[in-house]
Amino acid sequence: MQDAHSLLSHIFGYPAFRGQQGEIVEHVAHGGHALVLMPTGGGKSLCFQIPALMRPGVAIVVSPLIALMQDQVAALTELGVAAACLNSATQPDDARDIARRARAGTLDLLYVAPERLLTPRFQDFLRTLNIALFAIDEAHCVSQWGHDFRPEYQQLGLLADEFPGVPRVALTATADPQTREDILHYLRLAEARVFLSSFDRPNLFYQVVEKHNAKRQLLEFINNEYPGASGIVYCLSRKRVEDTAEWLKENGLRALPYHAGLSHEVREANQREFLREEGIVMVATVAFGMGIDKPDVRFVAHIDMPKSPENFYQESGRAGRDGLPASSWLCYGLNDVVQLTQMIQGSEMAELQKQVELSKLDAMLAFCETAACRRQQILSHFGEASKPCGHCDNCLSPPITFDASLPVQKLLSCIYRVGQRCSANHVVDVLLGRSNQYVLGLGHDKVSTFGIGRDFNQRAWRSLIRQLVARKLLQVDIARGQSLVLTEGCRALLKGEQKIYLRPVAEDSKARSVNTDRWLRTEREERLWQALRQWRRQMADEHNVPAYAVFSDRTLRDLVEKRPQTRAELSRVYGLGELKLARYSEPLLEILNGQPG
Ligand code: ADP
Ligand code: ZN
Repeated sequence: MQDAHSLLSHIFGYPAFRGQQGEIVEHVAHGGHALVLMPTGGGKSLCFQIPALMRPGVAIVVSPLIALMQDQVAALTELGVAAACLNSATQPDDARDIARRARAGTLDLLYVAPERLLTPRFQDFLRTLNIALFAIDEAHCVSQWGHDFRPEYQQLGLLADEFPGVPRVALTATADPQTREDILHYLRLAEARVFLSSFDRPNLFYQVVEKHNAKRQLLEFINNEYPGASGIVYCLSRKRVEDTAEWLKENGLRALPYHAGLSHEVREANQREFLREEGIVMVATVAFGMGIDKPDVRFVAHIDMPKSPENFYQESGRAGRDGLPASSWLCYGLNDVVQLTQMIQGSEMAELQKQVELSKLDAMLAFCETAACRRQQILSHFGEASKPCGHCDNCLSPPITFDASLPVQKLLSCIYRVGQRCSANHVVDVLLGRSNQYVLGLGHDKVSTFGIGRDFNQRAWRSLIRQLVARKLLQVDIARGQSLVLTEGCRALLKGEQKIYLRPVAEDSKARSVNTDRWLRTEREERLWQALRQWRRQMADEHNVPAYAVFSDRTLRDLVEKRPQTRAELSRVYGLGELKLARYSEPLLEILNGQPG
């Protein structure tokens, strides 16, 4: 059997395994079953790719999306690994050729969609092969509770009966216990060893801002922190996707829309462009998601609040798979909470499920409103204890809370005076003493709280309201015109028996992530970086693969920082395996040496 470490360095060009990778590889290579739970970007692929190379025979990789398979195969081919995929787009001639190579034992990895794998014909074909292992990628697709349920996945358990001697490894980035149980059950992995990694994403910078003009705030964020970078912007509705993509385009960015209302062709084309090109901002609903294996997504922005911490974690996790600094930027407001509550309550879900969804929404709001470490909060949601991270927005500029007892009293009594029948907008109008038609129409200019809140502006009041909703001191009654309603906990506050400390209305956070391009120390490095990127683009076009399949950003960055001058020095660069060295040493050294100082 080939040695795992030498494969890692010679084929993949990496010096060491990350986290539990080494252990997993050894376990599977020696025939063990495994369930691998690792966050996005953790390096799950190597956990089956290296055992596939170590064991005799071909590894069968089950993967739910064509785009995902194609990209992995392209990347493996660039490394000189014999890999292929079979899917609905494969031509019959190609399929025959792939089958021949698999039988002849000259193929190391074969990617296939679950529905094909399950056909009797394919099962017969499998029986003619020497199989190294089965890898079931995106294994959370077996779970009905998950976001990507695929009924076919539940039948993959039959592999246990049909191929009892072949190791099976299931992999996912979905952490919750329910999904884990479903995977073990449906894939019959009771005997599998479970490898659970920390779900922390140390290279992700978390930042939450209060919404006042989401599109403008988004544009500013991108222009200030990630000009020219690839990113994903998530929105709640199709219309908002269209508007936002349009707005970004008007302002000179390369933005594309993606949502379920677009034709299949347009979606495919946009996804492909996003995956292959650099510097595209994909504006999307959550329909755009699984299988976005692009390693160099530098930011994920939510311009509407996600509906649960699970969604938030999955979506924001699509940034920074390559381990370089990346940002999660979330912009939210009270209206988001109202809108999401409405969506849940108006849906067809069973009552119990609605309660579950509403409590997830509460947890999401609590994440947005917290004055503590964001990372700690999100990890604790997944049952993982951690210390304050020191580099999220709250850690970097801790929000200072103030004694808000008096303004809160004003607010609560105003809500009480207007009969707990009015929306946040209306309550704020009364507090500010605005005699508009609604206020006058209801006679609210006569209540004792009219105009008592002029020491705060509208934004400040809305911020206080949100914080009170997050703490369950206020409720938004959707059924009754989104009116604000007091809860039991308000009593002590109203009577002045209890103090309350809240965050003042936030100035737009000054906390900034570490922009990828800021590491370029000199103009010379900047020129070298651009030259390398341009060359990579050419190579990618020639080979018809995404740029990152040629070289990751991390490799380019290592090249700029180390500035290798000889082939021996080149071989120590991150991600340069033997095939790439053989292929690219010359042009690389030319670029590296050719740069005038
Ligand atoms: P996941 O599937 O868990 O989201 P990937 O397998 O796509 O993650 O790996 C994410 C990135 O990290 C890839 O670019 C991969 O090449 C890189 N990577 C994985 N393992 C290592 C390692 N041991 N050393 C360096 N880079 C690695
Ligand atoms: Zn923190």
